[in-house]
Amino acid sequence: MHADSLYASTCRYSLDFAALAGDIHADVTIIGGGMTGVSAALELAEQGYRVVLLEAEQLAWGASGRSGGQIIAGAGENGASLLKLLGQADARKAFQLSLEGIELIRQRVERYQIPCDLQSGQLEVAAHASHVDHLRRSVELQQQTFDYPVQLLDAGQTAAKTGSLVYHAAAWDPNGGHLHPMNYTLGLAQAAVAAGAQVYEHSQVRKIHYGPKTLVKTDQGSVSSDFLVVAGNAYLDKLVPDIERYMMPVGSYICATVPLPDSLQPTVIPSNAAVFDTRNLFSYYRKDGDGRLLWGGRVGLTNKPPKNLPGIMQKRIAATFPQLGNIGFEKSWSGNVAVTRYRTPHFGKLASNVFFAHGYSGHGVVMAGMGGACIARAIQGQAEQFRLLERFPVMPLPSRGILHSAALAAAMIWFRLRDAVG
Ligand SMILES: Cc1cc2nc3c(=O)[nH]c(=O)nc-3n(C[C@H](O)[C@H](O)[C@H](O)COP(=O)(O)OP(=O)(O)OC[C@H]3O[C@@H](n4cnc5c(N)ncnc54)[C@H](O)[C@@H]3O)c2cc1C
Repeated sequence: MHADSLYASTCRYSLDFAALAGDIHADVTIIGGGMTGVSAALELAEQGYRVVLLEAEQLAWGASGRSGGQIIAGAGENGASLLKLLGQADARKAFQLSLEGIELIRQRVERYQIPCDLQSGQLEVAAHASHVDHLRRSVELQQQTFDYPVQLLDAGQTAAKTGSLVYHAAAWDPNGGHLHPMNYTLGLAQAAVAAGAQVYEHSQVRKIHYGPKTLVKTDQGSVSSDFLVVAGNAYLDKLVPDIERYMMPVGSYICATVPLPDSLQPTVIPSNAAVFDTRNLFSYYRKDGDGRLLWGGRVGLTNKPPKNLPGIMQKRIAATFPQLGNIGFEKSWSGNVAVTRYRTPHFGKLASNVFFAHGYSGHGVVMAGMGGACIARAIQGQAEQFRLLERFPVMPLPSRGILHSAALAAAMIWFRLRDAVG
C-alpha cells in the first residue's frame, strides 16, 4: 500500500501489476519503481530494449510518491560547493545537466499528457538577516559561473512572491517549479509500459548474482539480463551494502492543509512558486493544484513522523502566514530522503554491466529523472553524461546503528540551535 499521503488520495492513475512468478529474461532489469527506475525504463523501452522493472511494493511507493515535488536547479548543490567539489568545467556541465533535467520533465509532461499540476517558479528564501549575504553570493555565482538567470529579491519583493513578511530576501528562479510527484512518476511508468516495459510490483529483489549476465531473485521468480540498474535509493535496505554506506536515509515529514478558502488563496504564495528556506533544517512548502498548502520539513531519525507533527507544522505555518493559524490538516506523511556526505547524488557501476544511482539528498525530482535517462543512454553506448555523474565525489558515512543515530541526533540539536539564532 502507498503511504496514506495526499498524493495517494489525489492520485490520477490506478496502475496495478502482478508479482513476478517464474524465471524470465530481459535486456535490462531495473530494481526500483521510483523516478530513477521508471525514467530509465521509459527511455530504454522506447529504444526497443526488453526492460523488466521490479518494485518491492508499488510503483512510486518510495520517495518519488512522497516528496515535496519541488523542481530545483542544480545537482543537489546549486553553487559554491558544486564548484568546489567538481571544478569549474565539470560544475558547469553538472549544472547544465540539471537544467536539461528540468526541460526533460516539461517535455515528458507534455508528450505523455501527465496530469501532475506542473507549475513554474521556485524561491529560496532567507530566514534570517544573516543569511542574506550567503544568498547573494549564491545568486551571483549562478549568474556568473553558470549563466543562470536567477534573481535576488529584496524583502519587499520576496513578500510579494510569498505572501509572507518574515523573509529578508530570496533567490527567485522562474525556471524551477513544482509538481504532484506521484502522478508524475506513475505517468512516466504508464508511458514506459505503453512502450513495452514489463513491470512487476510486490517483487522485492532478495539477491543479485553478478556476471556477464546478471541474475536477480525475488521470492517467486528470477530475471536474467545483460544489464542491471539498481535504483532502490533510501529503501534498498541491505541488498547492496557496498553503496549503502555512502548514503544515510533521513526521515522528512509533510503536512497538507485542507484547501485554503478562496478569500485566503491570494494571500498565500501569490506567485504559486515552490518555496524552501535557508535554515540548516529547512522548511519547504508550496500550494497544490487544489489550493492546499503542503508544508514539509522537520527531519528525523526514522521514517515515523512524531506524534504531534500537525501541531509542530501548524506553529511554523502560523509564524509564516498568521492568517492560517487555525487551518485544518487533511493528511500528514513521511518518507526517507537519501542524504550523502556532500549532498550531491552518487552514481556509479558495481560491475561493467551493473549501474546504480541514489543519494539525491532531497533534490531528486530533477536529478533522479535525469539520472535514470543518463543510465539508459550509457547502456545504449552514450556514456558521456553518466561519466560526468560518476565523477561526483563521495565519502562513506559512519555505519548505521546506535552510534550513527546518536551522531545524527546531536547534529540535529546543533542545527536547531544554529537555526534559532540565525
Ligand atoms: C518527504 C520527502 C520530500 C522530498 N522533497 C523533495 C523535493 O521537494 N524536491 C526534490 O527534488 N526531491 C525531494 N525529495 C527527494 C526525491 O523524492 C527523491 O530524491 C527521488 O524521488 C528519488 O527517486 P528514486 O527513484 O531514486 O527513489 P524512490 O522513489 O525512493 O524509489 C526507490 C524504489 O525502490 C524500491 N526498492 C527498494 N529496494 C528494492 C528491492 N530490493 N527490490 C525491488 N524494489 C526495491 C522501493 O520500494 C522504492 O519504491 C524528497 C524526498 C522525501 C522523502
